Amino acid sequence: MIKLAIVSPCYNEEEVLEQSAACLTALFDELVGKEKISADSFVLFVNDGSKDRTWNIIKKLHKENPYVKGMNLARNVGHQSAIMAGMMTAKDWSDAVVTIDADLQDDLNAIEEMIDAYTAGYDVVYGVKVSRQADPLLKRLSATAFYKLQRRMGVESIYNHADFRFLSRRVLEQLSHYQERNLYLRGIIPLLGFPSTTVDDVIRERTAGSSKYTLRKMLGLALDGITSFSVKPIYGIVYLGIIFVFISILIGFYVLYSLIAGTAEHGWASLMLSVWFVGGVVLMSIGAVGLYIGKIYKEVKHRPLYNVEEVLCDEDKQSH
Ligand code: UDP
Ligand code: MG
Repeated sequence: MIKLAIVSPCYNEEEVLEQSAACLTALFDELVGKEKISADSFVLFVNDGSKDRTWNIIKKLHKENPYVKGMNLARNVGHQSAIMAGMMTAKDWSDAVVTIDADLQDDLNAIEEMIDAYTAGYDVVYGVKVSRQADPLLKRLSATAFYKLQRRMGVESIYNHADFRFLSRRVLEQLSHYQERNLYLRGIIPLLGFPSTTVDDVIRERTAGSSKYTLRKMLGLALDGITSFSVKPIYGIVYLGIIFVFISILIGFYVLYSLIAGTAEHGWASLMLSVWFVGGVVLMSIGAVGLYIGKIYKEVKHRPLYNVEEVLCDEDKQSH
């Protein structure tokens, strides 16, 4: 039996929150009944600087419902940071954390499978969307394009997995060392490298309220998802610069030819050459500077170099 914490970020979710709490309570009752989780398991609603009554509802739920805990962030920090805040708080009070969006579009039945996978030895269990029919077409298309681009850029991530996942306490301990400002959890968790598996997540329509992911927030997340893990875009600039310089050499030959043949306008030759050549050199130089910035950027992150999964030593026989 584990003490489970469910962490749910809420931004302007007054329309759906009570309904979500009711569903989660039913789930807790069921799982406690099956002796999968202990009765002091809980859901931690993280209020991410909502402008509506969300925090009041959380306070009320906390009073009425023994499963409900709440956390209030001072301002809107965005989905990823809100989840992080919730996980870092919940990890000290529980054996494992499941993160799920407050709109409960994800499959609640998957949570029991996640716990079973944990019992079978997995520390990370990803909920993977089996079908995205509930998402609008544009969102589906852009998501697919993004996953492909991300893979090309060499970022390791789980296809069609959003932030519905189960993490054991020891994974959360390691995660707490990742102090980066541009947080993209879907990229960091695979980097940790603990035993992991997936379960199916049948996505439903939002039962109430509307999506809180504005186009701007989605683009920001996509950019973080690539630039926080890959310096390939910078290499792209260098290559582009090299191609430009190469083109300028070709043009140089052509200019020389037109000069000899006497077909060139006055001043045209030097203009053409300098535009391409200088352009190429500038691009290449920016790229070269970028390469160093890329390295500095990796350094300043202070990511831990390794994560200890288990320690075997004589002093500590009871726990290993
Ligand atoms: N969310 C948040 N902060 C934000 C935006 C969203 O905590 O700045 C929460 C939101 O309340 C929800 C989850 O993140 O619980 C996912 O948002 P949403 O359901 O609107 O996104 P979608 O499912 O449409 O991608
Ligand atoms: Mg949603």
